[in-house]
Amino acid sequence: MEETKKFQTESKQLLNLMINSIYSNKEIFLRELISNASDAIDKYRYNQLLDKDKYPIDDYKIRIEINKDKRSITIIDNGIGMTYEELVNNLGTIAKSGSKEFLEKLKESKEKDEMNIIGQFGVGFYSAFMVAKNIEVNTKSINDAGYIFTSDGVDTYTIKDSGKTDHGSEITLYLKDDTEEEKYSDYLEQYRIENLIKKYSDYIRYPIIMNVKTYKPELDKDGKEIEGKTKEVYEDKVLNSMIPLWKKNKNEVKEE
Ligand code: ADP
Ligand code: MG
Repeated sequence: MEETKKFQTESKQLLNLMINSIYSNKEIFLRELISNASDAIDKYRYNQLLDKDKYPIDDYKIRIEINKDKRSITIIDNGIGMTYEELVNNLGTIAKSGSKEFLEKLKESKEKDEMNIIGQFGVGFYSAFMVAKNIEVNTKSINDAGYIFTSDGVDTYTIKDSGKTDHGSEITLYLKDDTEEEKYSDYLEQYRIENLIKKYSDYIRYPIIMNVKTYKPELDKDGKEIEGKTKEVYEDKVLNSMIPLWKKNKNEVKEE
């Protein structure tokens, strides 16, 4: 199965805006995708409470993978996933009132206000097109087979079978080419992702995990640390503290 469909008119307007955005705060795309991953796990857990047989309990987490060769970032969740119909309705159209309101505000405003308006509204999934030239969503709901949604965000998107067997979604962004003004490849750096998670997604209540490079002391044959000698190791690290803002110490919380 492979089907190509046109974006709804309003979606196209919003996408066009994202693709050509001069908005400087493009980094918010990660916050939006992580928040969707977290919502998707919330929804899965809700269903799990209602029907324990149909929705087996899982080890809920969000994973970030970076591939420098492919210039890609992937955000993986084991949440509710999307059926074929949900893919079309949720990613092919803008169903929610927030985005419509956003478009209205934008039409009323002058070009230069674009920045303010994007900042004020969570523009959601489409904000990923500020940094990506192509996006793949490989998703599976308990109620359907697995599908891959692919799009460059211009006019159409394609949906085909993915063979994914476990529930949840994997969103892969293929970054735009670097320009004078914007170095998109910065998002492929571990520290950049770590900082963005700390800045915008620290409170998310599921672990956000990434395989990161760290340095460990080298050990001699008796297992003792050799002074001044370290080796590179890759290990999974949880990037967020999972502490809600209102439970943090006052001195840890910044004004903004
Ligand atoms: P919002 O999150 O405000 O509803 P978005 O544009 O961020 O708007 O996402 C649109 C819709 O796409 C979501 O409401 C959800 O139904 C679906 N969606 C996006 N990301 C995921 C995901 N990781 N898993 C399941 N559904 C998702
Ligand atoms: Mg969202």
